[in-house]
Amino acid sequence: MAAPPSRVLVVDDSPALLDQLAQVLARDGYDVRRARDGKEALRAFRGDLPDLVFLDLVLPDMDGLELLRILKAPRGDEQFIPVIILSAKSDIDSKVRGLRIGADDFLAKPFAEAEILARAQAMLRIKSLQDELRRARRELEEKQKQLEEQSITDSLTGLRNRRFFDERLAEEFRRAQRYADPVSLMMIDLDHFKAVNDQHGHLAGDSVLREAAALIRASIREPDICARFGGEEFAVILPKTHMSGALTVAERVWRELGQKKYRIGAEGKHLDVQVTASIGIAFYPARDVTGPDVLLKLADEALYRAKDAGRNTICLYQAQAYRFDAGQR
Ligand code: GH3
Ligand code: MG
Ligand code: MG
Repeated sequence: MAAPPSRVLVVDDSPALLDQLAQVLARDGYDVRRARDGKEALRAFRGDLPDLVFLDLVLPDMDGLELLRILKAPRGDEQFIPVIILSAKSDIDSKVRGLRIGADDFLAKPFAEAEILARAQAMLRIKSLQDELRRARRELEEKQKQLEEQSITDSLTGLRNRRFFDERLAEEFRRAQRYADPVSLMMIDLDHFKAVNDQHGHLAGDSVLREAAALIRASIREPDICARFGGEEFAVILPKTHMSGALTVAERVWRELGQKKYRIGAEGKHLDVQVTASIGIAFYPARDVTGPDVLLKLADEALYRAKDAGRNTICLYQAQAYRFDAGQR
């Protein structure tokens, strides 16, 4: 498909010069728009950005240099739109000022046809290189964003990964300490998950993990940070959340997971599988909790107590209970 013709805006108050420029350019295949004063020029420019502007510096309603400044003002799209100023050969002063303001080239009156076309081509060549550069830069930025996103995402579940979790836990803990805010941590481990793999295959196990992850994500609030901590283990940071709030969330997650029926196998011959979860919770501020690593260790210990207690349950780290348990071992 042929590219559409380049759009050229020609601004000149002299009808003769405007005609000459417009005709020469149109004959060479450009899509030409005309403006006889600053107001028309601005309307044409803003309505549909041209690829190139020929601009007379002497206009009836506006200083040409002022108009140039407006045309060259930074825009959100960052598109390069070359402006060629038109001036009398003798008027070196306004030519220099125009170039200083940001004009890209100039053309002296009277115009020679070949020169009009040569300057237009040269400017459009530069513009197309600039456009290409801008496109490549955008693509690179996009790619970089994707890579950054990938580096903190768990590819199976789409949740945040361990690396992201570790960083955020440290951050949230620091924030909690600084502002004397609470923060809770919840560790969730699916019960007897090995059996799901053994009985239904690893792919079925993967799909259960994906659905369980989505379910956990859907059961928590936006500011909560949910990550896949390891194989079939998930971690949720609950910023600004006290023990009682964390317990409410944990109960909701535990119930939803336990009730969920995961559909496994082909349509018609499918099975509905259920997988319960054990959850451990620790929170800050609490005695002994001096850093993010301790918070993590205590949540993990609470999780193991839930496992020890027969699974499919929630255990809360409590200084008392913890000491008691530790004493028994
Ligand atoms: P428990 O109730 O004590 O947690 O028992 P469990 O079987 O869930 O725990 P265990 O740690 O013995 O086994 C974890 C299982 O999770 C074994 C492993 O194959 C499975 N698993 C870990 N990561 C993945 C994964 O990415 N995909 C699948 N399908 N399975 C996984
Ligand atoms: Mg497990
Ligand atoms: Mg596990």
